[in-house]
Amino acid sequence: MQLLDGVLVSGHIKEQIKQEVTEWQAEGGKKPHLAAILVGNNPASEAYVGSKVKHCEELGFDSTLLRLPADISEAALIAEVEQLNNDDAIDGILVQLPLPEHISPDSVINAITPDKDVDGFHPISQGRMLLGQPTFLPATPYGIMLMLEYYKIDTTGMHCVVIGRSNIVGTPMTILMSRNGNPGNATVTMCHSRTKNLKEHTLSADIIIAAIGRPKYVTVDMVKPGAIIIDVGINRIDDPTKKSGSRLVGDVDFDDVAPISSYITPVPKGVGLMTICGLMKNTLLAAKLRGR
Ligand code: NAD
Repeated sequence: MQLLDGVLVSGHIKEQIKQEVTEWQAEGGKKPHLAAILVGNNPASEAYVGSKVKHCEELGFDSTLLRLPADISEAALIAEVEQLNNDDAIDGILVQLPLPEHISPDSVINAITPDKDVDGFHPISQGRMLLGQPTFLPATPYGIMLMLEYYKIDTTGMHCVVIGRSNIVGTPMTILMSRNGNPGNATVTMCHSRTKNLKEHTLSADIIIAAIGRPKYVTVDMVKPGAIIIDVGINRIDDPTKKSGSRLVGDVDFDDVAPISSYITPVPKGVGLMTICGLMKNTLLAAKLRGR
């Protein structure tokens, strides 16, 4: 078993990004500038946004964090997005999900101008991805592709089972893994909450990408020996042995599955770090495409 090490790969990619930013600035370009919108004070969202802002500093990007109250109206939030759309200093906009119940995430995402859609969630970005055109790829699936690429894992002809069909992870992952390219060229099965006999599908998988949101849901009896395991899940479970009383685990039962897998991502320090790389690469690309 080999660990797909998010710390190692993201460190390597961040060095490349830093270098590219330096070169871009030497050519007269401005620092890439990411604007993040955080609505309310969900602790997990606070942590994710905080990490994204910190990475901006580390990579030589500018960042703006807009904190908005949980009771903001959808119209007022969209007005904030539009202001960022029209602000020439901003290259990339991200709205941290989830949003409060009374706000439609689709309406807010649709309001982001596609040339600043660095999370890759806008219908235009997703449509371009579907058609294989250059675009901002959704950050998590993009990060996973970068990780497979780094380890030179040839997925051609593999059976890839993606568990989860969200617009931000599961669905785009199926598109990227089946695209004509490497990583890609896989035969893909998408499984979801209504799939019957999930285990029948996963047992025939050469690569499993789990994006479910259920702690340790993929157990060793569901995995073919030698399979590649990409664990996207981030779940907090009680752990009285920890000072905080809890810890993070993935959607895969790592301790049991790791020994029979060929490659596996840990949680934490796996896919989460790669998501940030995807976001940062998109932000740099946005700055370059805007030609500032
Ligand atoms: P989501 O809730 O939108 O989607 C979960 C998907 O899992 C759904 O499509 C559903 O059909 C499927 N599902 C639920 N129960 C199932 C079951 N019993 N069997 C098969 N499929 C089932 O979640 P999401 O936004 O796609 O995120 C999934 C997980 O990944 C969460 O834990 C989330 O925190 C994590 N996540 C991590 C990163 C990262 O950077 N590592 C990024 C985004 C999401």
